[in-house]
Amino acid sequence: MNDFPAFAFSTVAHVVSELGAAGRLGEHITQRFPDAKRALLVTDPGFLKTGLVDVPAASLRAAGLQVEVYSNVVADPPEQVVLEAVAAARKHRTDIVIGIGGGSSMDVAKLIAVLAGSDQPLGAIYGIGNVKGARLPLVQIPTTAGTGSEVTNIAIVTTGATTKMGVVAPQLYADLALLDAELTLGLPPLVTAATGIDAMVHAIEAYTSRHKKNPLSDLLARKALGLLSANLIRACENGRDLAARQAMLLGAMLAGQAFSNAPVAAVHALAYPIGGIFHVPHGLSNSLVLPHVLRFNAPEAAGLYAELAEIVVPEASGSVEARAEALVVAMQQIAIISGIERTLQQVGIRETDLDRLADDAMLQTRLLGNNPRTVTRDDARAIYAAAL
Ligand SMILES: [Zn+2]
Repeated sequence: MNDFPAFAFSTVAHVVSELGAAGRLGEHITQRFPDAKRALLVTDPGFLKTGLVDVPAASLRAAGLQVEVYSNVVADPPEQVVLEAVAAARKHRTDIVIGIGGGSSMDVAKLIAVLAGSDQPLGAIYGIGNVKGARLPLVQIPTTAGTGSEVTNIAIVTTGATTKMGVVAPQLYADLALLDAELTLGLPPLVTAATGIDAMVHAIEAYTSRHKKNPLSDLLARKALGLLSANLIRACENGRDLAARQAMLLGAMLAGQAFSNAPVAAVHALAYPIGGIFHVPHGLSNSLVLPHVLRFNAPEAAGLYAELAEIVVPEASGSVEARAEALVVAMQQIAIISGIERTLQQVGIRETDLDRLADDAMLQTRLLGNNPRTVTRDDARAIYAAAL
């Protein structure tokens, strides 16, 4: 008997999780990519200002590479930034692209690697599987423990005032993801908390994903939740705790590998309009709706939530429903201890905004389709009302 439905699983080819690895980037690159001579480091102005990019840049130069830094990436990068970055890569005659930053920098790095050596225009690669041909070698180095973008095959581009397009293609999986907690030491506690909760949501939603749940994603999601729940508050309370920081990076990456193959669902679907309309950061948007979506899903997903409760709150006992509720309470507890906002009102959302939020959430059909329980527009509005 085979209890597992057919599934496919993809991820990046190489992972290095090593404290101080960014300072040895040159060695890692020459070992894996002996032909690489001209590297483009892709980051944002905020990370550039920390000075932390100097260490990997110096390591690359010491290993004999020419290094150019493109540092104009902004959150929710618009098309114009992507095109400017591609032009910079061509001008530098880049032969290896290295994303170093949060999800936006890594997303732009993916698109540069695909477009710099191609004659496909950006507009032609939106959607699923539309990238043609090979790309430049691609290395991803996250500086937050949250998005998991270093191991996903998707990049998001802002195409209008609030409209976004996604590029999903196997070429977007990097050749190498490198995790070094020394790059995350400057993250303030509230950012550490919100991004860490986002990673926990990736694990929870992958584990309950309706259509593509699979044994590999399950293993990754469980291990991710264990690492993230044991280290998130530690990393918030002492931002210099390198062991906690490295565990967070590893947890966020494992969750990324899980949800890249078993996609996220209603928490993300309801979080996107909060970010899109009210410019609330992604991790916080997720955290605001998380407990209310989990309670809504419980009639269908309590069994799976109870399994995850064993990891996050091992002391939980009682019925399946009681243990599922213990998971919800544990996630709320993390938000309370970390001090991040907990209601929609705290981020400036009013009752009169709920209809617009619910309408926008219903447009996230791809994500809602992965949810363990069907979400109607009335359900979405009720979840927002509970989160108000
Ligand atoms: Zn997310």
